[in-house]
Amino acid sequence: MTDGPDVFSGVAGQPDLVAQLRAAAVRPVHAYLLVGPPGAGTGAAAQAFAAALLCPEGGCGRCRDCRLVLAGEHADVVTFVPEGAFLRVSDAEEIARVAVRSPVEGQRKVLVLTDFHRVQKVGPALLKTIEEPPPSTVFVVLADTVPPELVTIASRCVRIDVAPLAEATLVEVLIAEGVDPAAAAAAAAAAGGSIERARLLASDADLAARRTAWWRVPERLDGSGAAVAVVVAELVELLDAAAEPVRRVQAEVLAELDPDAATPGGRSSAPPSPSNAPRRAGLEAAHKRALRRHRADELRFGLATLGARYRAAVAGTAVEGGRLRPLVAALDAIVASAGALSRNPNETLLLQALFLELPALPADPGTNVGDPPARVAQTVERRSRKA
Ligand SMILES: [Zn+2]
Repeated sequence: MTDGPDVFSGVAGQPDLVAQLRAAAVRPVHAYLLVGPPGAGTGAAAQAFAAALLCPEGGCGRCRDCRLVLAGEHADVVTFVPEGAFLRVSDAEEIARVAVRSPVEGQRKVLVLTDFHRVQKVGPALLKTIEEPPPSTVFVVLADTVPPELVTIASRCVRIDVAPLAEATLVEVLIAEGVDPAAAAAAAAAAGGSIERARLLASDADLAARRTAWWRVPERLDGSGAAVAVVVAELVELLDAAAEPVRRVQAEVLAELDPDAATPGGRSSAPPSPSNAPRRAGLEAAHKRALRRHRADELRFGLATLGARYRAAVAGTAVEGGRLRPLVAALDAIVASAGALSRNPNETLLLQALFLELPALPADPGTNVGDPPARVAQTVERRSRKA
């Protein structure tokens, strides 16, 4: 065990996870399964764990092995990112082939299998590989959830459940990374427990404007389909614009694929890249998935904002009044729409159908209770109106 910063220092806000992986690295078994939502840090944790498994000192963070693993360039750490929507037979064959190969440099090799909630039909084909690899191979399997197809593989792994990051943790991490406290609070509140999304939103100057747009939806409804169509069209445009920072980063990553731009490995300062996929096609497929996920995150954030607006209205309504019932019905409809997002709906139709059900609300005087992100958004807005 080392004193001071080591490979696990980069795993933010997950002390339990880090403690378990530290302990596991001392005498590892053949396979680990980390189950946690996107952005909870399983990717960074897997990378740190791989370094700890290869480092002669259990993850010092300074030796050649550690630096190469953290840079995503160690020959004995293979990260597998499925390219399609689901794993294919060819993916399973590739994993099996790599798993039986001897380590190139040392005594051990680590296979990090990402996105394994997408294992689908090839689960059985991979079972033998994952439950009985050569003694030198350690699997680190990552999944957002454990669907039925993953249950058998999961039963052959040491399973570690990873909680979404708490909002306060996201704020701390962002502030430590130099984000100013107000922006950190607003980004963390809209990030749904994901550090990746929080970082993205912290650099997103339009977050407050998007929040305000969703917050104001009930003020703009008048029971007519025409009003709904206008509001939905505007929100869909905001969704398109919100993806711009993601597209910019993706374009940079693709540009780095250019062999002329590639630099020799070993830089310990290289940030862990989510995209070590060797081929452009794989990278582009991953980028498409990331954009879809970003859009779903944005919609979820928008619906959560809308829900907060109606909850504030419920809190401000006298209990005896008959006005409460439509507000509660509105909340139910919003929750149902958010639940429908996982089925990949047509977002315009989904929002139009929802907004037609929602009662209009009077303009918000800016005194909503217990809702810090709203206050932040409104403060920003008031400031910009003064300016
Ligand atoms: Zn080391």
